[in-house]
Amino acid sequence: MKTMTRREVLRLAGGATAIIPLAMLTTHQAVATDMPQVDPEDATAKALGYVHASENAEQLCNNCQLYTGEAEAEWGQCTIFPGKSVNAQGWCKSWVKKMA
Ligand code: SF4
Repeated sequence: MKTMTRREVLRLAGGATAIIPLAMLTTHQAVATDMPQVDPEDATAKALGYVHASENAEQLCNNCQLYTGEAEAEWGQCTIFPGKSVNAQGWCKSWVKKMA
């Protein structure tokens, strides 16, 4: 059995360090679309007046500063509802115009 030199161990560790963040990013994006939808009857959602379909075409979750989902996705993440997804066409009282 061949033992690894110190240089080989460090090179392997460096490669692993580069791969881990990429794996986490991929997992994060995959999880965002698989997250349960926010229930508008949930206490926080209700307090914020969250709805799956905004009544104002200019104020939508997907143009809100707190929306982190993909622009074209039907559902995405919002920093106010960790672990849940909001409808891209939704809205709540915390809506803030997304900066360009
Ligand atoms: S803060 Fe409200 S409007 Fe903005 S993305 Fe979240 S749920 Fe939608």
